Amino acid sequence: MQEEIPKITVMKAELLEKGTIFVKEVKELPFHIDRSTAGPSTGQNSIFLRLGQERLVRLTLTQKQSETPYTYDAKRKVIKKDEEEWLPARQVESLLHCPEQAFLNLDSNCKYHCKFCATPLIQSHINHRTLQPQVVTRIVKRVANKSLTAVALTTGVFSTPIDSVKHMCQVVEALRREFGDRLPIGVEPYVEEEKHIDMLYDAGADEIKINVESFDPQIYSKVCSEFNYQNNLKMVRYAAKVFGENRVCSNIIIGLGEKEETIDQGAETLAHWGVIASLRPLNLNPLIMQQLQQTLNNKAQRPTAQRLIKHATKHKQILNEKGLDVNKFKTMCLKCTGCDIVPQKDL
Ligand code: SF4
Ligand code: SF4
Repeated sequence: MQEEIPKITVMKAELLEKGTIFVKEVKELPFHIDRSTAGPSTGQNSIFLRLGQERLVRLTLTQKQSETPYTYDAKRKVIKKDEEEWLPARQVESLLHCPEQAFLNLDSNCKYHCKFCATPLIQSHINHRTLQPQVVTRIVKRVANKSLTAVALTTGVFSTPIDSVKHMCQVVEALRREFGDRLPIGVEPYVEEEKHIDMLYDAGADEIKINVESFDPQIYSKVCSEFNYQNNLKMVRYAAKVFGENRVCSNIIIGLGEKEETIDQGAETLAHWGVIASLRPLNLNPLIMQQLQQTLNNKAQRPTAQRLIKHATKHKQILNEKGLDVNKFKTMCLKCTGCDIVPQKDL
């Protein structure tokens, strides 16, 4: 018999389908607004809202109320839909990029041009900066006495993959020297060789995220045209051998024009290797919209709530069958859960 989906999860999926919310009185928010410097949400402002006791959602703020059906009333702690009170929610503090984690982007520039990513598009507007190890430890120390439970590191690739991996290793080592084993460390590098993964593991990283992005090779070759599909999968598989089960995760984007079954096949293949996917709704950041639609013949589309629930339900079944456990992740997206419907947590 099919398990019933909790109503609050269906509501989270509806919020994710839109991905946006309007806040009328920003000054009434108890915590600051988060501004992303990496990945598809680069340059966008967002807030995290707790729905019920456990569900967490990250929503991008719109500038005008007419751009989204959802409004957050911080005073009454409620999400309104089409002006009607819809769901109680309270804002959660984002420490550095997300709640309870310091998730830092070590390099704000990237020489690649993944079509769903806004990082390369805004880099000319900001000064290039690489966070040095001592700066990272200083930043993490500043939030260490708050609700910090983990550190996570991502990076653009300014020069070469090996240089950015070496830099990431130096940061991991510095964090280990400073915090010992108190703080789990997750890393999200771009890797091309097995030795890159070994280096990060030897430096002391606990968990790693290597993104598959699309399990459809044709779509992958369009959206990540500078990378090799087979080699990328090989890296994900190798990472599972080095880091072990329940320590490797990977984004598979939903909404790039892929077939429905491709998503589930991707999640299943990864699970077979001991890797847990984050089935990530495509973020149609206005900065990337045009290039993405051109690349995908206008097939890019944010997934519906129904699609998100369907794939997460199937994913849960796959993970249960393979004996994998999302709850074991201590860092990055599977710990945070703000952007996805996460099996074994949301449903
Ligand atoms: S490697 Fe691709 S996804 Fe990563 S920051 Fe660079 S352009 Fe974006
Ligand atoms: S789910 Fe991942 S990308 Fe989304 S806010 Fe959390 S850590 Fe960031």
